Amino acid sequence: MGLFSGKKGLIFGVANKNSIAWGIAQALHQEGAELGFSYAGQVLKKRVEPLAASIGSTFVEECDVTDDQAIDQLFEKVAQHFGAIDFLVHSIAYAPREELGGRFVETSREGFRIALDVSCYSLVALARRARPLMPNGGAMMAMTYYGAEKVTPNYNVMGVAKAALEATVRYLAWDLGQDQIRVNAVSAGPIKTLAAAGVSGFRKSLNYVGAVAPMGNVTQEDVGNAAKFLLSDWARKITGEVLYVDGGYNIMGAPDPSVMDV
Ligand code: NAD
Repeated sequence: MGLFSGKKGLIFGVANKNSIAWGIAQALHQEGAELGFSYAGQVLKKRVEPLAASIGSTFVEECDVTDDQAIDQLFEKVAQHFGAIDFLVHSIAYAPREELGGRFVETSREGFRIALDVSCYSLVALARRARPLMPNGGAMMAMTYYGAEKVTPNYNVMGVAKAALEATVRYLAWDLGQDQIRVNAVSAGPIKTLAAAGVSGFRKSLNYVGAVAPMGNVTQEDVGNAAKFLLSDWARKITGEVLYVDGGYNIMGAPDPSVMDV
């Protein structure tokens, strides 16, 4: 018997085997969860389908989270396939590449709108459709980053979107508490993925954080294990929180002089 035996849930945000969402999916699968996957567009289908099949998942559906009609259609299929669900994982973010580098003051209105819509509002949109499918309560989680709280050069508008996402987690936690649905976020240290590669200077940041954090860089597996806890009954009554899985980077006020190169 695994921690998630008999539990069913949805994973949003697998693009390939390096995706954090895939790390979370594997961790939940190891504990016996039955998983459904949703991916962003046709291009990703050929990547996501084999991954889902490798863990025995038969529910793999396309859904652009900026399209309300597409989300409605997806959740109709979810209801038909699963009936009720126990958890939902939101591991989605996007901003146009030109917004993820250079002067923050140059952020465009459209870039700002897109970043907030895809990376933040989508959590509300998914939570609204998932709630009726969780009649006995459940758990939701989203992925965030330290750039929500402190300035991380080049992360720019995505830092603003993550700050809004963390506030959204708290408001959803408040609102959905009455439905016995918990909502939390994991703030992960940098991990090399498709999305991360879009941020200017990502490789340098990854190396820097690895050198400064008390426990170095983190992996998809580390995030998966924390997600497993947050989505499980062991985290009963934990809601509206942001849990750091960052090797301790966020506690540091200054790097160890031995890694400074100034
Ligand atoms: P990733 O590229 O593997 O995942 C991002 C996912 O967002 C992709 O699957 C993509 O298809 C999906 N997406 C984008 N636009 C979408 C849309 N309109 N509709 C549906 N899906 C859409 O990269 P990742 O690093 O695994 O990112 C997952 C989450 O983790 C993101 O929220 C990201 O901000 C967060 N995060 C990443 C890091 C890191 O260093 N990689 C650190 C902290 C938090």
